[in-house]
Amino acid sequence: MERLDAFMARASEAYYARHDPFADFTTAPEISQVVGELLGAWAAVTWQAMGAPDPVILAEAGPGRGTLMEDALRLVRRMAPDFARALRLHLVEASPRLRALAAAKLPDATWHAHIADLPGGPLILLANEFLDALPIRQFVRRGDGWAERFVAEGAFVEMPCPVPAPAGGAERVPDGAVREVCEPALAIAAHLGARLARDGGAALFLDYGPEASAPGESLQAVRAGRPADPLAEPGEADLTAHVDFASFARAARAAGAAVFGPLPQGMFLARLGLYQRTDALARANPARAQGLIAAAQRLAEPALMGRLFKALALAHPALPTQAGFEA
Ligand code: SAH
Repeated sequence: MERLDAFMARASEAYYARHDPFADFTTAPEISQVVGELLGAWAAVTWQAMGAPDPVILAEAGPGRGTLMEDALRLVRRMAPDFARALRLHLVEASPRLRALAAAKLPDATWHAHIADLPGGPLILLANEFLDALPIRQFVRRGDGWAERFVAEGAFVEMPCPVPAPAGGAERVPDGAVREVCEPALAIAAHLGARLARDGGAALFLDYGPEASAPGESLQAVRAGRPADPLAEPGEADLTAHVDFASFARAARAAGAAVFGPLPQGMFLARLGLYQRTDALARANPARAQGLIAAAQRLAEPALMGRLFKALALAHPALPTQAGFEA
């Protein structure tokens, strides 16, 4: 028997080590090059707002194939050459397989296993669909107390737990309701909150989850583009869970950072210029126009990825409102 977060950590490590995740699902930067370009522009604007520190660490957590950063750096070299010269590229990636793939596109990067291993100093960090991969714990309301979910032979086993779930508030929770807690995400929020407040900089997370914390289970498995049983065949499917943005924001704020968002991804990308950039690319490449426009719609339409996905930024408290988050 294994606690759910231990099961999920083991399953994800095996999955990312052995599989090409992009055979099973796609992500925003893989859908359109414009995502990486807009995030590159966001990073350049943030760097200016920070007072153009040189050197500055530009980092990405969970870069996958390296597509987002490759697109971002292409734009930065063209539009913000001073930033391009000042930045030192650092990538945080657990999977040796994905490290090798991304290293082919980003040969100048320094690699780390954990965000906490990044060197000190002013930092700009980007992360797309990173937090949703981190292991969660699940607590089930039973009577006046709580039970925690473990996994044994492909099924959940509940063990009464002595303390209420950490995310449990004072509100009444119906019997059988499930609460999820992602401890590694909260640890990252606290770490980044403290370091951004101390050393300066900002971190941008794009991921999926609701605006407000709410009970409900969201653990899901995807295999070959289809939903799969998350507990069967660990390591054969991609496991993710909704990001609890409200708890993440609270942890970062408590550690000293300012927080912007969460904002629906569609709104955030549109404010950064998704449609203008897509339009310009489409005009320059008529053969690709239809695909580029369809991709922008997929990213921004509320019924597609535009609403469930959110953007959240953490920043040094003295920085102005982050680009894309203006009221
Ligand atoms: N950002 C990419 C990939 C998203 S998939 C994109 O948008 O296409 C999740 C990524 O996070 C993978 O690169 C995976 O290997 C990495 N990852 C998952 N858990 C991790 C952990 N605990 N530490 C570091 N990287 C992790």
